[in-house]
Amino acid sequence: MSSALDKAPVLVVGAGIMGIGIVQVAALAGHPVKVFDTREGAAAAAIAKLGGTLDGLVAKGRLDEAGAKGAMARIQPVATLAEAHDVRLVVEAIVEQLDAKRGLFAELEGIVAADAVLATNTSSISVTAIANGLQHPGRLVGMHFFNPVPLMKLVEVVSGLRTDPAVATAIFELSRAWGKTPVHAKSTPGFIVNRIARPYYAETLALLQEQAATPAVVDACLRGAGFRMGPCELMDMIGHDTNFAVTNSVYDANFKDKRYMPSVLQAEMVAGGLLGRKSGRGFFEYPAAAAAPPPSALPAPAPGHVVTVHGRGPVADFLEQAVNAAIGDGGLSATRDPDSPWTGLTVDGAALVMTDGRSAQRLAAELGQRDIAVFDRLVALPCAPGTALAFAVAPGASAGWPAQAAAWLAALGFAPQALADTPGLVVARTLAMLINEAADAVLQGVCSPEGADAAMKLGVAYPAGPFDWLKQWSVPGVVGVLHALDAEYRGERYRVSPFLRRRLAS
Ligand code: NAD
Repeated sequence: MSSALDKAPVLVVGAGIMGIGIVQVAALAGHPVKVFDTREGAAAAAIAKLGGTLDGLVAKGRLDEAGAKGAMARIQPVATLAEAHDVRLVVEAIVEQLDAKRGLFAELEGIVAADAVLATNTSSISVTAIANGLQHPGRLVGMHFFNPVPLMKLVEVVSGLRTDPAVATAIFELSRAWGKTPVHAKSTPGFIVNRIARPYYAETLALLQEQAATPAVVDACLRGAGFRMGPCELMDMIGHDTNFAVTNSVYDANFKDKRYMPSVLQAEMVAGGLLGRKSGRGFFEYPAAAAAPPPSALPAPAPGHVVTVHGRGPVADFLEQAVNAAIGDGGLSATRDPDSPWTGLTVDGAALVMTDGRSAQRLAAELGQRDIAVFDRLVALPCAPGTALAFAVAPGASAGWPAQAAAWLAALGFAPQALADTPGLVVARTLAMLINEAADAVLQGVCSPEGADAAMKLGVAYPAGPFDWLKQWSVPGVVGVLHALDAEYRGERYRVSPFLRRRLAS
């Protein structure tokens, strides 16, 4: 099947932003490509624009002239679908409506050969539903590209209940031949990326709604964990209407499972026209510097301290180095308590504890100490100087302790960000929920762990995949944070995936 599609003639239906990107990739890979759009002149106009794009790539030395000319010569607009009767593959990128897509494929079945492959670029509609009613539903498959198509490497190859595995394999191989990294996915709400990414937005919106942090602080903390964009600036870029619509579609398609519940805060922003960049205002104002990093000019900790670093492993090692660098001038050095049940440090009896989900208040009660701070999970080691790090102190701490805790974190090289005393703060909470969602996706056969990691790294540029994080962390660690969140908020949202529960039991 794969060789059957090698350089085979292709029809792309829909010459919008996605369609023309698919045309570019297919034509550069050597396929003759016909382009159809119901809007008169749209296909020809999009092809002309693509010519300009390819000229630009030639001028920048990213494409040779012959390659660009050859690709353009292979592209042809067609005024009717019937003119594309000889294609071996159709890629549909029309409006995101089930009836429109079903109608198009039904019409195409009367035009193309019975064994031609039909692919849909839908981002949210069930592939199984689109295939329903076709004479040959086995040949319909999802070929989900990401925007901008020529740059984004990921293709989710989505199989519906009736998709022929040989057809999915053929599209998988073809995507590779087009220079992409394909990942197999089962047709379920949000497929892989749009599903697993939900907590990145949802946990932020929940923190903002309960006034635990500001948008700039949450963004800074997640950028500190290696994400290219914080969730607030990212939602502003995507558009809150679009982001909210995707969340709603995943929520509805899961029969209103509370796990995916949309945010009242975001609904209010959409209702008020605070859509992000495109409306000039979302969490931040545009044009303007987005997420200005919060200031952190803090006094150095007073000298003469007794510091002990708790725990083992890379985080404790990093903390020990940072403590020694901070206090080395005074001839002091940190001692180590590798058998401590927690990771962090004590300073003259006060404690800075890396979050395991327990709040500072709970830790203060359990450790029998008043002056306790929890700080967020450190994932991108070694942390660059000035990395934003969330921390929270127990409400009953002594008056000077919040400033002292911040000063210690600053002395260790962080830009401390004060948060309300919430379980898992920002990074641990977000990563635990991303891992949990990915675990459920794997449990349900939506994708493999490797597929989930590749999809999140390539589809939304995450610095690591959920299973990469799980490996660096631990199943009990992730489950501990989820349990703490569940104990705080109750309800279905923080229920632990059976995938993780079973790993825990074994
Ligand atoms: P778009 O609005 O830019 O383009 C859609 C094009 O399809 C338009 O030119 C329209 O005239 C044409 N069209 C509509 N109905 C048609 C029909 N029946 N026959 C032929 N042409 C028709 O939309 P887009 O952003 O390119 O999205 C297209 C598809 O790709 C949708 O299914 C969308 O969900 C999916 N998708 C979009 C993105 C994205 O980021 N924009 C990412 C992944 C997938």
